[in-house]
Formats: sequence, structure tokens, C-alpha cells
Amino acid sequence: MHNNGGIILPAVSRVLIIGGGIGGLTAGIAFRQVGIEVDLVEKESDWTVYGVGIIQPNNTLRALEKIGLAQDCVDVGAAYPGWRIFDVNGGLLMEDPATSDAAPAYPPVNGITRPKLHGILLKCALDAGVSIKLSVTAETLDDQGGAVEVLFTDGTSRTYDFVVCCDGLFSEMRKKMFGTRFEPKFSGQAVWRYNFPRPSTMEWGEIHCGPRNKLGLVPLTSDLMYMFLVTAEPGNPRMPKEKLAEAMRERLADYGGEIAKLRDQIIDSEAVVYRPMQNILITDPWMKGRVILIGDAAHTTTPHLAQGAAMAIEDAVLLGELLGRDEPLDDLLAEFMQRRFDRVKFVVDSSTQIAEWEMEEWQGIENPDADPGKLLYSATQTLMEEY
Ligand SMILES: Cc1cc2nc3c(=O)[nH]c(=O)nc-3n(C[C@H](O)[C@H](O)[C@H](O)COP(=O)(O)OP(=O)(O)OC[C@H]3O[C@@H](n4cnc5c(N)ncnc54)[C@H](O)[C@@H]3O)c2cc1C
Repeated sequence: MHNNGGIILPAVSRVLIIGGGIGGLTAGIAFRQVGIEVDLVEKESDWTVYGVGIIQPNNTLRALEKIGLAQDCVDVGAAYPGWRIFDVNGGLLMEDPATSDAAPAYPPVNGITRPKLHGILLKCALDAGVSIKLSVTAETLDDQGGAVEVLFTDGTSRTYDFVVCCDGLFSEMRKKMFGTRFEPKFSGQAVWRYNFPRPSTMEWGEIHCGPRNKLGLVPLTSDLMYMFLVTAEPGNPRMPKEKLAEAMRERLADYGGEIAKLRDQIIDSEAVVYRPMQNILITDPWMKGRVILIGDAAHTTTPHLAQGAAMAIEDAVLLGELLGRDEPLDDLLAEFMQRRFDRVKFVVDSSTQIAEWEMEEWQGIENPDADPGKLLYSATQTLMEEY
């Protein structure tokens, strides 16, 4: 910590961020805004952002508002008031308005394409002065107590006050820090995604409930939407890439109405984005010495609450806010864990519970305690509270 004649200086001066996804870029922006020098390394040679969308519930917009980017997302996205729930034949069951309690100036939910979100974050990070290197990662992190000496895969090295690892679900940095103690766990479900033209009459997000799976339609722009289809995939089978369109259509066979028409348009296997759902939660403090994990590297949730990127963004924004304070680093990191861990655990646990109840229902198992819709609603409300 340093206090320069009454001017508050940040707790750390120079930080390395490893991973340039949603969490890493957001962290870069948040750190620059409090005057920290930031290097960011991304191991891919180009930005590999797949073309489907992301749901931003209102608490995501609250976090983005703190770094001045909520309106940019709303401007290029598609705001909607909540969810309409349909049965398998397209009959409307109920309307479920979402909340704007976290950021009342912004819509309850915003759909945005991943490339557009990435474009906003990347431009802002570059404008703010984050120094970014592609095709590079950290070979070794040598924590010497007062600083971390980092050797990079391009043969260069540099010393940092602090290292923030945002390298995602399959984090190599997590392995360096914790070995194999924490490994991603397959949830039993997978998600299939496909883009469609958005009908001009569509004003809400939609959830359609089938007997063996569920799907959603998410507005992304004025003329684009995407479908996510959540299925049980026992044993996590390998899905041949060239068969994805056919396999997705087969899993939609039960649906009538508009969904049956959309099903017939799923013809391009290259455009199907298929992901087994995995989760992980680091139960120890997410740091060792001067190296911390945030975002999916520390806590990957299944997407049932649409909160994965939200949690990465909240981590990054709060860490920036704390590191900007003129206080001992250990105290700031303790406060970070205290404000983040229970909240993130709540997201991972609630999402896992919803997944388990859904899979029971699709197998015809009666569980009087199961109420995934109610949990989704109450958990979302809870997440609007400050943390
Ligand atoms: C099917 C699905 C749907 C989802 N839907 C939503 C949603 O609607 N709303 C929501 O909020 N969240 C959603 N999520 C979650 C969201 O995508 C993630 O939580 C979010 O991307 C996490 O950001 P991150 O920066 O931590 O990790 P990532 O986005 O995975 O970024 C990690 C980055 O690190 C890089 N990297 C990896 N290893 C290294 C290394 N060794 N060195 C340097 N760089 C490295 C990667 O190339 C990548 O650029 C969804 C996830 C899935 C799978």
C-alpha cells in the first residue's frame, strides 16, 4: 500500500491477467479505471468467440454499470421483460416478469451476442490502456512474497505485484496452484444452441417445456434470436460434429407449434454449438499468495440461472474496486472472498439443484420437493441483492 502525499494509490501497481475472456477483459478495464498498470495474456492466437448469445440478467447490468458499460450492452442487445412459459404444444402456461431491482435504470434482462459483448469489452480494454498479447501464456509463476516473477511462453519475463487468472473452466493456472484437487464435474446435462431470425412479434424470452427436455428462445437483436435446448446426456457421450444438426432435431421431436417449424430449419451442423454442462467450485480461498483465480477458473456453474458470465463480471468489477483502495492486500483479498464466495456457491448449488430436478422429471421420477421454476425465480430475486 502507498499513500503519496494525500493521493490514494492502489494497493498494487502492476497486475498480470491470464486469459482474455469475459472475466479477463472486464478485470483489465476495472483495474485500469483505478490506475493499475495491466498486462493481459491470452493463449489463443485469435479471439475464438462463438456466435451464439448470452443472457444478461439485471444484476449483470448493475456490475457493468459500475465500469460504464451497461448502456453499451443494451444498445447493441435486445432488452426484454422476462419469460413466457409454454407447454410442449406451444400453449402459454404463464408469464414470468423478471426484475430490475439491481439496476433500476436498465431492463430486467438483456440478450446479447457473444461477439458483440466481446467487441465492447475488447475495445474498452484497449482504450483504457490494457496491454494485450495473444498466443502467449504464463509458463511459470514464481511468487517471491512481495512480487510474482512470471516467465512467459514467448521467452520473456516480468515482475508483477499481483496475478489474476481468468483462464476458464479448464484452467491450467488452477492446476498449477491446486494440482488435481479440483476438477470439473459433468452435471448429466448438455446444452445445444442455434441461431434463428427473430419474429417481429417476439417481445419476451420464451421457455418451452417438453417431456424429456426443455428449451428457450432468447432475443439477441431486433432480428436475431437463439434457441438453447437442455437435454439429459447420461455418460456424456461424444457427439460427432457432422451429426449435430440431426441429433438436435431428434431431441426436438416432441414439440409442436412454432418449435416444430424451427426444428426443420436446423440443418447446419457447423452452426450448432453443443456443450456438456460442467461445474466446479474452489472451496479454498481462490488465491495463494499473490495469485488469484476468478471467473470460471474458480467457479463454473451450469447455465440454469444464466449467471456464469455475470459472476465472472461481478468478480472482476469488485476486485478492481478493492484493489483500488489504499489498504493492505491481504485485507482486501479477505474482503473479496467474504463478499464473493457464498454468493457464487449459491449460484452453483441452485443451478445444480435445478438440473437434478429436471432430470428426475424427464425420467418420470415423482419428487414432491422438486420445484425448479420456483427456485429459478427465488434465486434470481436473491441475486439482485447487493453483495
Ligand atoms: C452453454 C452455456 C451457456 C451459457 N450462458 C450464459 C448466460 O446466458 N449468461 C451468463 O451470464 N453466462 C452464461 N454462460 C457462462 C459464461 O459463458 C462463462 O461463465 C463465462 O464465459 C466465464 O468467463 P471467464 O472469462 O471466466 O472464462 P472464459 O470465457 O472461458 O474465458 C477464458 C479465456 O482464457 C483463455 N485461456 C485459457 N487458458 C489459458 C491460458 N493457459 N493462458 C492464457 N489464456 C488462457 C481462453 O482462450 C479464454 O479466452 C454460459 C456457459 C455455457 C457453457
